Amino acid sequence: RQEQYRRLRDLPSRTRDGVTIDLHINAGLLVDMSHLAETNAAGIGLFRTEIQFMVAQRLPTTGEQYALYASVLEAARGLPVTFRTLDIGGDKVLPYMEKVEEENPALGWRAIRIGLDRPGLLRSQVRALLRAGAGHHLRIMFPMVATVEEFESAKAIVAREEAHLARHGHPPPASLSLGVMVEVPSLLFHLDEIARRVDFMSVGSNDLLQFLFAADRENRQVAGRFDPLSRPALRALRLIAERAEAVGCPVTLCGEIGGRPLEAMALIGLGYRRLSMSPSALGPVKAMVLKLDAGAITAEMERLLAQDGELSVRNALQRFAEAND
Ligand code: PEP
Ligand code: MG
Repeated sequence: RQEQYRRLRDLPSRTRDGVTIDLHINAGLLVDMSHLAETNAAGIGLFRTEIQFMVAQRLPTTGEQYALYASVLEAARGLPVTFRTLDIGGDKVLPYMEKVEEENPALGWRAIRIGLDRPGLLRSQVRALLRAGAGHHLRIMFPMVATVEEFESAKAIVAREEAHLARHGHPPPASLSLGVMVEVPSLLFHLDEIARRVDFMSVGSNDLLQFLFAADRENRQVAGRFDPLSRPALRALRLIAERAEAVGCPVTLCGEIGGRPLEAMALIGLGYRRLSMSPSALGPVKAMVLKLDAGAITAEMERLLAQDGELSVRNALQRFAEAND
């Protein structure tokens, strides 16, 4: 099978009716960068910067962060890399950081919330990113943003660091794009406002679905209870794709569902044209894309979401996929 996917490596990622679907990979360590060439992915759609912090014995210095980001950009050879700022807290605890006792860590002090409350941490990371990004097209994305104000505050921290580096004579990035993860449901209800302010958005479907269904993604008793291919989930995901398109804001999806062929097919039917996934998922998803008629899946998704009936449309999509095989 792996051999079969290798043969697809050099084919453009395009559906039968000529729609290009950009397939990116998720990464978190320098060793992951070798997957770019192996898979021929369009870029790193999600670089999880917290991994460096999680494997370290103490807080990485700005210099250590800079060294990693510079190596990552070099290894990407001009392909886009989207760096997500620290997404710690919740289930991702750093042994060397103060531990706060929380009843509901997933809903607690995590990600951008820590970044804004402890701006020293976020500033150090942004400074490392801006320095590493000198001469590159730098993309920075903030996790767990729940309101437009949180994005504005994070953006202000970036502006401050840009000014600081300029004062010290550091060359700036060739361009700087700032984006947010769409993974807290509150953003769904001021999507246009956020989409107009950011340069790009990326749907974190792992968290978005956990919050949408109020089902802890780490809790095996409930994690499998709600199907991502159910109508409420798909309607939420469709809303994001629609509003992003309407406002002209590029949108990616970087949660696990983007790496599952049937789910990825549904996402293309909802309007997604950019997916980011684990490297091993890229071959199977690309095989699906090459066989797909984007027009037909779009019509099928419209039909399925217009009607009510069985909550999950998984079986119907399975039949659609088999008929197109
Ligand atoms: C997500 O929430 O879908 C996501 C991609 O981020 P993480 O899995 O790191 O929370
Ligand atoms: Mg997330």
